[in-house]
Order: sequence, then structure tokens, then C-alpha cells
Amino acid sequence: MSQTILTGLRVNSEITLGNYLGALLPMVRLANEHSDEYEINIFVPDLHSVISEIDGKLSENLLQSIKFYLASGIKLNQHVHFYRQSRVPAHSELCWLLNCLATMGELNRMTQFKDKSAGKDSVGVGIFDYPVLMAADILLYNAKYIPVGEDQFQHLELTRKLAERFNRRFGEIFVLPATPLEQVKFMHQSEGIRIRDLQNPEKKMSKSTVAENSKIMLFDTPEQASKKIMSATTDSLGKIQFDMFNQPGISNLLQIESLISGVPLQDVISTWAGETHYGDLKQKVAESVRVLLSDFQEKVNTISDQQVLELLEQGEAYANKVANHKLYQVQQLMGLR
Ligand code: ATP
Ligand code: MG
Repeated sequence: MSQTILTGLRVNSEITLGNYLGALLPMVRLANEHSDEYEINIFVPDLHSVISEIDGKLSENLLQSIKFYLASGIKLNQHVHFYRQSRVPAHSELCWLLNCLATMGELNRMTQFKDKSAGKDSVGVGIFDYPVLMAADILLYNAKYIPVGEDQFQHLELTRKLAERFNRRFGEIFVLPATPLEQVKFMHQSEGIRIRDLQNPEKKMSKSTVAENSKIMLFDTPEQASKKIMSATTDSLGKIQFDMFNQPGISNLLQIESLISGVPLQDVISTWAGETHYGDLKQKVAESVRVLLSDFQEKVNTISDQQVLELLEQGEAYANKVANHKLYQVQQLMGLR
């Protein structure tokens, strides 16, 4: 089997400009760069979605998320595979088998679990166990590179550990995914991009933030979105320069401008060096955001559900073939077949 790059985009609700610039676009770039040497698996982690509450209709959101990739310019070829996790039952089956190898102590140590369960009286088993499902998502396909944020590194390490444990106990069957450090190198970005909250630029933009003016959603009207940029928090230093520590608001705007225009950040910074009118910068960024959103929305709307369903059908046939083969080997080693 050739090596695989794997990614999934959770679709519990709409996505923000931060998710788009920080996760979706880099993934599309990666896929377009590597689809001649790697299999590119892009899956909709719908079994992960049902762990928490879902805004709107899950089945509609599922199709929508594939449209996002298409509208962001992913090039289709026979090495790019789209599939829904729940349509490939081997994920759940392998998750169970791996559950029997993982320990409560290991899962208890996951900081995501600690964060998400802190202060709650009642915590779903899904939140506790999803790192094991994630391990199954990865190991079924010999996935080597899984472009995830830093918040997922611990889960990646767990995946490596479970794979090693299985290989030792039952026989060499799983390929270990690359270490977090190797992942970062492969994606050639030493530190992940972090778009900031527009009202509170010390924090990153998050879809779960309640304040509407803090975040730009990809389906805000383009006018709404440009207004949010115009009202973004800045500072009183009166200098346009890139300094995330002292001027996170202004730096964020420069960052957004660079990512949308495709002009390297250093060049954007030099263009604005010496300028003092924050309003001018805001107007420029507001316009870039407005154009981005209206183009993106138009593209998404021209892609039909039918088109997406056809892609999924092909992708799911591929995924089931690969995953069932791996699962069968695992079952054999464990004595189940
Ligand atoms: P939540 O508030 O529910 O955690 P989120 O906006 O942080 O939502 P996630 O679903 O946690 O989004 O992350 C989806 C992807 O987007 C991840 O790869 C994550 O690293 C990336 N991402 C999230 N927020 C930003 C941001 N502000 N800038 C760049 N990338 C981001
Ligand atoms: Mg998050």
C-alpha cells in the first residue's frame, strides 16, 4: 500500500475564517502538492461529530464540508478519496479492538479530555474514548501524515503507542504515523497559523466563542464580515507593524491580509511599514475578506449534492476495501478469524 496523508474536518457547525485559513487551505495545498506520491484520504468524521451537540442537520453539514474542499480548489484525481467515517464500519470495529489494549490511565491523561470534562457532573464516554477511535481512523490506512493542530499531538502519540503495543503483542501489522515533530516538518510550517479573535486578539478565533463580532464565519454575508473587520480591536500605538505580543490586533490583520492575498507576510509588512492610519489597513483587509467570502460562497453554491454524493460513493468503495483488508489481518492476528 502506498503511504497516506489523512485528514478530517469536524462539521458540528459552520467554520470560521480561522479554520479556513489555518486548517482547510493548508490541507488543500498539501493535497495538491502530494497527490502524485501519496494517497490523500479526506474523511468526514461523523462518528466524532455525534460526541457533542450538533447545530443544524448533520447530514447536510456532511455534504457541505466536502463542498468546502472543492470550493477551496482541491484538485481531484484517482489518489484523492473522500469518505464518511460512519460508512466504513471498520473504524468502529477496530476502535473496539484497540479499546481492549488502551488503559483508563492513558485516556485519563489526555489534556483534551481533562479540558472538555472539567467542572462537569456528567461526562460522555465518547469524549473519553474518542482518541482511540482516532487511532483506528489513522491505523486502518497506514496513514503517515495527519496534519493536525498542536492540540492533537498527544492523541497522535497515543496512536503510536497503541500501534506499537499491538505489533508487539500480536504481530507487526500497523505502520506507525510520523511523530508530531516529523509532521510539522513535513507540513513545512514551524508553527501553526493562529488567526486571532477580532475583539480580543490575545485569544485565537474560535467557532465556539459566543460573541459574534469576535469571529468571521464563512457564511456571514460579505458585508457583515467586512463590518466585523472594521470594528476589530487594535491598540493606541499608532504604528502599523507586526508584533503579536504588543499589537496582536494589527498583527492579526496583516496576517489575514497575507493569507488571503497569497502575498508573503514579510511583503505585506513592508508595504504597510511607516503607515499610521489603522482605518486604511482595516479597509483593505475588510475588502479582501468581503471578496473572499463572496467568491467562496458562490463556488460552494454551484456544487450540487449529487456531485458530492458521487465522489463519496467512489471514496467509500476505496476506503472500505483498504480498511476491511487491514481489519481482517488484525482479526486474524488476534485469533478472531
Ligand atoms: P472550537 O472552539 O469548537 O474548539 P475551533 O474554531 O477551535 O472550534 P476546531 O474544530 O477545534 O475549531 O479546529 C479545526 C481546525 O482549525 C484545527 O486544525 C485547528 O488547528 C484549526 N484552527 C482552529 N482555530 C484556528 C485559528 N484561530 N487559526 C488557525 N487555525 C485554527
Ligand atoms: Mg478548537
